[in-house]
Amino acid sequence: MSSTTTSSPRLIVITGASSGIGLATAQKLSALGHPLLLLARRLDRMQALKLPNALCVPLDICDRAAFVAAVASAEAQFGPVDAIINNAGVMLLGEVSTQDPEQWDRMFDVNVKGLLNGVHAVSAGMVARRTGTIINVGSVAGHKAFPNHVAYVGSKFAVHGLTENLREEMSAHNVRVVTIAPGAVETELLGHTTDEGIKTGYHAWKESMGGVVLSADDVAAAICYAYQQPQGVCIREIVLAATRQQA
Ligand code: NDP
Repeated sequence: MSSTTTSSPRLIVITGASSGIGLATAQKLSALGHPLLLLARRLDRMQALKLPNALCVPLDICDRAAFVAAVASAEAQFGPVDAIINNAGVMLLGEVSTQDPEQWDRMFDVNVKGLLNGVHAVSAGMVARRTGTIINVGSVAGHKAFPNHVAYVGSKFAVHGLTENLREEMSAHNVRVVTIAPGAVETELLGHTTDEGIKTGYHAWKESMGGVVLSADDVAAAICYAYQQPQGVCIREIVLAATRQQA
């Protein structure tokens, strides 16, 4: 099934393509034949995928001008963007009374403002073409609180709120907007948290589910499912978690 009316798969932008969910999504969408613009800071990781028709650009998504320029380069090579997967994110867990506030800044800069930079880079073109898909990766932590997650939960609630509002705004232009909200996924995400006690607790929480959480491939499959619907069908949100994840 294709989301487009033409036979050739169109350009898709993926942020955070160097690891985890973004990397798995890049592999799946490439296998479906899509040209890709892959964005993350670690260029070597994206190049190592050796995907055909993939422009890999080392980028901090907080750099709005560089983001816009990267999309323009990809469009010059592959034609208009049909979808963006705003996936890049950071999770720096901490107890708010002791956490370095710079970690809050980082999470809101990347998870919220960086994601909005992605929306900015593609939305005007999609509106003009009256087609397109914007998929924002939120979290179960965009629906409910977890211990030591205050700023992260705040950033993900922001993603869910702005995505729903964006969906309403874009619907008049025939542009789909989708929230993907995963529970715990086995990726590098926890690795950037600096508090070792919190990391240990997080691992213990995963073990309480039998050590089996979602894989990055599971989430990539949900993203592809939403994208592969006809343009007239908008899967507004997919919330998915390991069966044994209670919270
Ligand atoms: P990973 O840490 O494996 O991947 C995060 C990706 O984001 C990396 O490719 C990283 O690339 C990129 N990234 C981080 N900061 C920036 C930046 N400033 N500019 C560009 N790219 C950046 O984690 P996941 O795959 O798990 O995370 C993907 C998304 O899924 C995130 O939004 C996360 O919040 C969300 N999520 C994850 C869950 C989980 O349990 N893992 C659960 C729910 C949601 P690089 O370092 O090369 O720049």
